[in-house]
Amino acid sequence: MDLKPQTNPPVNIAVIGSGYVGLIASVCLAEIGHSVTCVDNDTAKVVALQSGEVPIYEERLPELLARHRGQRLTFSSDLLAAVRRAEVIFIAVGTPQSPTGEADLSYVEASVREIAAELNEYKVVVEKSTVPVLTSRWICRTLLFNGAKQENFDVISNPEFLREGTAIDDFLYPDRIVVGADAERARRIMRRVYQPLIDGSYFGAPDHVPGSRDMSGGVRYIETSAKSAELIKHASNAFLALKISFINAVSNICELVGTDIEEVATGIGSDSRIGPKFLNAGIGYGGSCFPKDVRAFYKIAESVGYDFDLLKSVERINQNQLLCFKKKLNAALWTLKGKQIGVLGLAFKEGTDDVRESPAISIIKSLIEEGCCVSAYDPAAIEKARKIIPENGNLRYVDNEFEAARDAHALLIVTEWPQFARLDLNRLHQIMRYPVVIDGRNLFSLHDMAAAGFHYYSMGRPLSEPESSSRRKIDQE
Ligand code: NAD
Repeated sequence: MDLKPQTNPPVNIAVIGSGYVGLIASVCLAEIGHSVTCVDNDTAKVVALQSGEVPIYEERLPELLARHRGQRLTFSSDLLAAVRRAEVIFIAVGTPQSPTGEADLSYVEASVREIAAELNEYKVVVEKSTVPVLTSRWICRTLLFNGAKQENFDVISNPEFLREGTAIDDFLYPDRIVVGADAERARRIMRRVYQPLIDGSYFGAPDHVPGSRDMSGGVRYIETSAKSAELIKHASNAFLALKISFINAVSNICELVGTDIEEVATGIGSDSRIGPKFLNAGIGYGGSCFPKDVRAFYKIAESVGYDFDLLKSVERINQNQLLCFKKKLNAALWTLKGKQIGVLGLAFKEGTDDVRESPAISIIKSLIEEGCCVSAYDPAAIEKARKIIPENGNLRYVDNEFEAARDAHALLIVTEWPQFARLDLNRLHQIMRYPVVIDGRNLFSLHDMAAAGFHYYSMGRPLSEPESSSRRKIDQE
């Protein structure tokens, strides 16, 4: 494999799908020098992108869109024209969960059927969407059934590992790039696509986006078979979900025996074979990837003859965490009907406006069903949440953390936005009706919350009660 620096002629690229992955891939591929057309069949989205709107909240995205839009990056709803011009076609459409749990590949299939007509000279068709193992074979077969000639394409897998909230950094400064291709011709073209990251030349460019890692040696570029790359993506997400569920299971034991998961996790994570990341006890994973990918992985395993029982437990533990969190609220407030509840966080994680499969959304729905009045705040995700649960007599979206907490019987912390951890606790205490905080993300120290006079329930840690000098409201009632 020749990974030496070389002059790198730009590649003409079409990216199908302008969602979280397609849009980030498009701006980043333009950023490293390529000519990119990003296509979506949602024409309203395309018009918005063409006219300069930034449809998702993601650090540095506005800056990169301004830099490349109309130059190396264009937006279009004309898929055929984009494919005709392109040498490499990235498929980045959604692969949501079907009602039976498998990945719904109908969006992938629909775009593949359209591509087939324009494969009149050799092109590389890239699975960027997260798909089950063996999908590349189905794509290949679908292209052939729809009139494409075998010599005019290869289908390869190039899974995306970006995390919403740090997506641009993850794309340009990745831990690794995985390219699963069975044909050398396709591998050569994909090396051209990623060459500025592989040889490190991008990181020496005067106006490169500064990143979180030292990349002077270039990124780790891993070539595999298409099947292995497909498996790498599902297995990576499943492993991360497993790590989260593992620490959450341990946190439940901590609660039962009366010790602190933070101490235990530090001890576990200091083992270099385990590492500290993804060992934060909390409300469980959500988002548009882990829940569906865990399920799609055990479903595809089942379909090829393996019962991946472990992943069913991962899923069960995750669902249980949300119930544990809700039980803490009941334990703190006794009955819920008619209570005023503040909710901090709507996005499924910090740094994004994505509310798909967000724990906050199911918590708010269940609070409303139980007759609570909810005031919710998120720094970025209110507009997206509003589309799923519109404001009503029992739900208000408010402008800041303190408005959410005003007159509340309890404040729930659901998303780990760093600004929540810096809240003025004395002010918070003053404006709440009861000094009760239920923290699904363990943002505060038990000591600080006790000193500030809160009854503080967190995950896998002992209940923290107000220090006697600061016992106020509840005791007085
Ligand atoms: P998304 O729903 O945000 O975006 C998908 C886009 O594809 C939408 O804009 C939709 O209009 C468009 N689309 C659908 N069918 C189309 C067609 N036939 N032609 C043109 N456009 C079409 O999804 P996403 O979050 O970007 O995820 C895309 C894929 O990437 C999924 O498989 C997901 O699992 C995977 N992935 C997501 C993340 C993440 O953090 N969101 C990370 C890694 C991988």
